[in-house]
Amino acid sequence: MIRPTRRGGPLASAEIGSGLKTTGMKGSRKLYVKSFGCQMNVYDSQRMADTLAAEGYVETGRAEDADLVILNTCHIREKAAEKVYSELGRMRRLKEAGDAEGRRVLIAVAGCVAQAEGAEIIRRAPAVDLVVGSQNYHRLPDLVVRAERDGKVVDTQFPAEDKFDALPAPASAATRARGVCAFVTVQEGCDKFCTFCVVPYTRGAETSRPVEKIVAEVERLTDAGVREVTLIGQNVNAYHGTGSDARPWSLAQLLGRLAAVPGVDRLRYTTSHPRDVGDDLVAAHRDLPQLMPQLHLPVQSGSDRVLAAMNRRHTRADYLDVVTRLRRVRSDLALTSDFIVGFPGETDDDFAATLSLVGEIGYAGAYSFKYSPRPGTPGADLDGQVDEDTKSERLHRLQEAIDRGQAAFNRRCLGRTFSVLFERPGRHAGQLVGRTPYLQPVQVEAPASLIGEIGAVTITGVASNSLFGSLAQAGVQQPARAGAGV
Ligand code: SF4
Repeated sequence: MIRPTRRGGPLASAEIGSGLKTTGMKGSRKLYVKSFGCQMNVYDSQRMADTLAAEGYVETGRAEDADLVILNTCHIREKAAEKVYSELGRMRRLKEAGDAEGRRVLIAVAGCVAQAEGAEIIRRAPAVDLVVGSQNYHRLPDLVVRAERDGKVVDTQFPAEDKFDALPAPASAATRARGVCAFVTVQEGCDKFCTFCVVPYTRGAETSRPVEKIVAEVERLTDAGVREVTLIGQNVNAYHGTGSDARPWSLAQLLGRLAAVPGVDRLRYTTSHPRDVGDDLVAAHRDLPQLMPQLHLPVQSGSDRVLAAMNRRHTRADYLDVVTRLRRVRSDLALTSDFIVGFPGETDDDFAATLSLVGEIGYAGAYSFKYSPRPGTPGADLDGQVDEDTKSERLHRLQEAIDRGQAAFNRRCLGRTFSVLFERPGRHAGQLVGRTPYLQPVQVEAPASLIGEIGAVTITGVASNSLFGSLAQAGVQQPARAGAGV
């Protein structure tokens, strides 16, 4: 059953009563959203598009065609702001081309760079019409009207109202177009204040959405054909949203509730902090068949000295203990992580401790970065900044170690049969791309009719970043609950 959406599809705007009074809004206007950074931003971009769809905006994949361009920015990585300014140079030229054709093009900057830089963005890039912070995108329709009517608008205040309450339900048609896997934000912000990170400043304090609102969103997604849901949050396992009993629920309780939603075949969550892996979350990995045996659990460094300087609030031993508890109940758990090399004060011995941790854990993959100071964070002012050559050399060695671990993990999959959720057509005709329970992409010769289905696939080949497989004749070999491991 497909439930009616609150607003109708994205093209139904002419009939929709909205707060927008400008004439142009009644026809379909084109929206181009470019996302930088993490999955939270991808999700936010989709919700911005949903919000504006209700006002008559139709998404386009070509910035050249757009009446409204939104750059949804990320501030977490090096030179993020510079990348945005360089992209804004390109958008300025598109705006000028629109002016020449007598077509007004609005440019908006959203997300964490917008939150951090505010009006400075318009000072440096005068073509920008609107700057909207990461907590304010539910106000986009009104802000766009104000920008059209009054000129430049900056809104980076943390609002009193909850943006999730104010957002329209995701449109079913838009959801369907986005495929069989969906992200759902359940938590935002962070109270941990790692000394290298801007998130507590750009996204604010930890907040969690109420359980029933998440359940309702997931029900809409499954009605629209979604089979895999990934719960996202900056610190997702600090989730503490209000449950049906009016008490704060943990992430494990939320996962248990969502596992009971008909049509939810797979659940994942990201990104987690090692300190917030409680016993109930470990038990969820044991008890919920829908919870996939894969976990992104950032550690950042293997050295206690560096972990303390980063204010990570856990030691190497604490991290290893979490991994042991999880693997005790789910021996095949595929772990991935984030690492920062060259944090201020990191010595050769500290870096060696990181390398040894990588070997000890046996990651299925990891993201790794050179430390770069983020203005306004404590790490930027620490003594002992590490020189670029040393950072580069350490990063190179770390990535080699991570790649070796990933290759070993993938090799162990060879010849085994897994359940694969087929997501989309592959690179070549007759191929589909799906995901194993461990989140590895796998290319399979299979008919397009299988998109959205879960099938048994035997792994026949391994490349550095993906697997190759063929449809299995026999049933699926379920991932081991304990004992065997990949
Ligand atoms: S826990 Fe994650 S989001 Fe929070 S401050 Fe640390 S790195 Fe940033």
